[in-house]
Amino acid sequence: MADAPGLPIRDQLIDRRSKLKTILTTSPNDPLLLRLLREVDAALTRINDGTYGLCKTCEECIEPERLIADPLAQYCLDHLTPDEQRALEQDLERASSIQAALLPPQNLEVMGWKTHYYYKGAGPVSGDYCDLLEYNNDLYIMVGDVSGKGIAASMLMTHLYATFRSLVTLELPLEELVGRASRMFCQSTLPTHFATLICGKADNTGKVKICNAGHHPPLLIRRSKIETVKATGLPLGMFCEERFTLSEEKLDSGDTLFLYTDGLVEAQNTSGHEYGKEQLLEIVSENCSLPPEKLVSACIESLNTFLAGAPRTDDLTIMAIRKL
Ligand SMILES: [Zn+2]
Repeated sequence: MADAPGLPIRDQLIDRRSKLKTILTTSPNDPLLLRLLREVDAALTRINDGTYGLCKTCEECIEPERLIADPLAQYCLDHLTPDEQRALEQDLERASSIQAALLPPQNLEVMGWKTHYYYKGAGPVSGDYCDLLEYNNDLYIMVGDVSGKGIAASMLMTHLYATFRSLVTLELPLEELVGRASRMFCQSTLPTHFATLICGKADNTGKVKICNAGHHPPLLIRRSKIETVKATGLPLGMFCEERFTLSEEKLDSGDTLFLYTDGLVEAQNTSGHEYGKEQLLEIVSENCSLPPEKLVSACIESLNTFLAGAPRTDDLTIMAIRKL
């Protein structure tokens, strides 16, 4: 794996090594710490001799997202021992329930808005970010998609969750909130990681400010007319200094804001065709008068019909927010 031993992993390991050394000065005989130190040293040796990231059994590349989650991994998924396999499954189950607990309340009705969402990972955990938060007479709406899939993406998703949840309390203008979140995301993740995101802020008069960081444009459903809210910025965390701008919309009673991730429009059936935006617009306009939960269900049903049993390979989030 020629390009695996990049600087970030080596630096991470050296940093971990010095932390272990510090703790070991107070408990020099702790068997777990000693074992970890040996494993970190072995990983550094593998980086030096160019075998880092290769499975010790088959010498094939270890899954990159597993290496990001555990830089000490030495075996590919196919060559874990039965005990390791079981431990991994249990870890995934725990991660999945932690992630489920981070989701906002379902069917939230607040400040004259009625919401519903569908959230499902391609595997046990998801790299999609879905949140609704009422703070100081505003409803914050977040739907995003972290680059990659699986465990590593879900870790970045929880990072975004914590970032936004803490930044919202500062009551910054929305574009500054997203700008600051982007900077924090950029500084604390690997250069290849970014996230597309819609961040909205709605009040009880129907006014919605929307900041779109490189995400699929949300749909604005007004009676039978459907508009798209254009992208207003680059994805989050692509560069440390990014500037975001806002769209401002006014929703009347019965109007709906519809957000989704690429797991919907880019889903592929067995013939390799994508579900696509056209089909989405069609199903949304056929069902535009339905309440949020029925509109979301109609989309899921339409997607399932299209897939006709083909497995979903991407995380999926759909959210509808209607002005009452
Ligand atoms: Zn292997």
